[in-house]
Amino acid sequence: MLKFAKRLVPATTAEAHEMLLANRGARVLGGGLWLRQGRRAIACAIDLSACGLDYIEESDDAFVVGAMTPLADLEHDAAFNSATCGVFEHAVHDIVGVQFRNLATVGGSLYGRFGFSDVLTALMALDAGVKFTGAGRIDLSTFAASPYERDVLEHLVVHRRPYKAAYGCLRRQATDFPVVNVCAAWWGDAWHVSVGARPLRARLLADEELGCGTPKPSREELSCALEAVRSLDYGTNYLAGAAYRRHLAGVLAVRAICEAAGIEVPPSLEERFELEARAFEGDAAASPSGSCVPTAPIDSAAKEAAR
Ligand SMILES: Cc1cc2nc3c(=O)[nH]c(=O)nc-3n(C[C@H](O)[C@H](O)[C@H](O)COP(=O)(O)OP(=O)(O)OC[C@H]3O[C@@H](n4cnc5c(N)ncnc54)[C@H](O)[C@@H]3O)c2cc1C
Repeated sequence: MLKFAKRLVPATTAEAHEMLLANRGARVLGGGLWLRQGRRAIACAIDLSACGLDYIEESDDAFVVGAMTPLADLEHDAAFNSATCGVFEHAVHDIVGVQFRNLATVGGSLYGRFGFSDVLTALMALDAGVKFTGAGRIDLSTFAASPYERDVLEHLVVHRRPYKAAYGCLRRQATDFPVVNVCAAWWGDAWHVSVGARPLRARLLADEELGCGTPKPSREELSCALEAVRSLDYGTNYLAGAAYRRHLAGVLAVRAICEAAGIEVPPSLEERFELEARAFEGDAAASPSGSCVPTAPIDSAAKEAAR
């Protein structure tokens, strides 16, 4: 149960920021869905609902998304999806359920920088940043690696680029937390690959770090990207072991790059993945209680009807 000793409702983000700094133990409220997990007593809840942060603005350069915008609103924004190859819709469509995504906010999802986050992974591969009242603008990959500061997240900015992008994720079953997730995007003459649910905060690999520098990469370039993704740190939790996650992340990254590039995965790489996967068959540490299945494809029409 979530209890507040005091609830403040500022009219502006500047006021909210002052309140946050002035009140010990104060917490900003987004949708409150993560905060309400478990038993928690918050000395002072700062409710941003009167700050006018529920909006999606579109300009020639960028999409600006207010922190209090529900995940579902961005998920169903046709202009945003078409400008970003639908990666956000793909990333969030299996998060719990429609009602949940109508309440969970973009700001709460990004501020949390959860080690399982689909939201952070999907947006980090794009040319995106966040704006805080105190700290100002920060690009998303820098923000993801930063410590938690007492500040108010005002909005997300996703710059328009001629993106070629794709998202890949594995869940043991739909609506579960992801075992691992990946987003690959080509923009600014470089590949950007974010890898999340490791189960650590998402990390971005870009350009030379990937060794993959052409819009339609060769088998050799894909092999370099595979090794780069697998060189990240991976951990073990109840969903999967570190070695299995490392294997999956590489597979998903290569497939996402190929999907974004509009090319087939080279058969020799698919054969390699198949052989590697056999090493995990029957391995309880890989997938402690059952095998992982890819997330279901998006059925936008059915989802729209369910809203
Ligand atoms: C059961 C469950 C399953 C989930 N599964 C997934 C999943 O599979 N994939 C996934 O990506 N996510 C998942 N999530 C996370 C979810 O999508 C949201 O990201 C999460 O609920 C936080 O959003 P919220 O709006 O509820 O934030 P809150 O719970 O309100 O806040 C979360 C944190 O952010 C802070 N905060 C909120 N807004 C701001 C702001 N504007 N400025 C500064 N700080 C702020 C709060 O103080 C708090 O520390 C899951 C959550 C739950 C509870």
